[in-house]
Amino acid sequence: MREIQWFPGHMKKTQRRITEELKNIDFTFELLDARIPLSSKNPDLKKLTQGKPSIVLLGKSDLADPEVTRDFVRAFSEDGSFVFSCDCKSGQGLSPIQDAVRRLCAERLEKNAARGIHRPLRAMIVGVPNVGKSALINRLCGKAKTKVENRPGVTRDLSWTRTSLGFDLLDTPGVLWPKFTDRAVGENLAITGAIRDEVLSAEEIAWALFCRFAAFYPEGLKERYGITDPSDYDAAITAVARRRGMLLSGGVPDEERAAKALIDDFRNGRIGNFTLERL
Ligand code: GDP
Repeated sequence: MREIQWFPGHMKKTQRRITEELKNIDFTFELLDARIPLSSKNPDLKKLTQGKPSIVLLGKSDLADPEVTRDFVRAFSEDGSFVFSCDCKSGQGLSPIQDAVRRLCAERLEKNAARGIHRPLRAMIVGVPNVGKSALINRLCGKAKTKVENRPGVTRDLSWTRTSLGFDLLDTPGVLWPKFTDRAVGENLAITGAIRDEVLSAEEIAWALFCRFAAFYPEGLKERYGITDPSDYDAAITAVARRRGMLLSGGVPDEERAAKALIDDFRNGRIGNFTLERL
């Protein structure tokens, strides 16, 4: 099976930027995709942010399997980390953040107070492309964005926005490129739209999606497409094509269009709430 090609150039640039900004940052929001909490996690983040405290958010929870999300939140919190699931589009699940930030940064706040420094804390959001970083920034900053004057030494194209929650937010999100430990990680990122659609073909992505359904939700595609065995790719993609009226001349299923339609349905939560991996 061919390797999934990735973008090491971007990764280097982002890593450099995160490192450059570290001196201005008190903590990070690590935004994961609740449908793929493991695949969207960058195992190097702690090293990259030199151990800065972090709040973990499982975004797009409105699209994920709620029971599995609860399991992930529980597991990721076991070491004392602050972990929440949220929907960055509606803002659901974001209310505990203010209190969590205060607890997470209690030591920093105390130190600042002891030195007579009364500035808001500073945070950066990091996550894979398309995970909802901009949506989260908009949610946390509200509509009336107040720009904070740039500090000397801060890269000019980066700006800070004041939230009403006791911290400023670097309003350019840190786009992280997760490490590929195996092909499944790349496939999961492709299914959820975190990597460009050209990296894998629609049919490769659809195939991977059927595999996840066969493993975790064998009945999950029955209602919408009448698929009873997701592991049988030809039958499954044909069922999608027929349901969606995507037929070529002679009634041959248009597999590529059907694959794209399936992926689109999944990404937009039209099939239901599903999580593509387990602990
Ligand atoms: P970024 O690339 O990480 O900044 O991602 P964006 O904030 O641009 O979001 C990518 C897409 O996901 C947009 O269409 C958002 O509306 C959508 N989105 C972001 N967060 C959520 C969420 O929690 N739930 C749902 N359903 N959609 C979301």
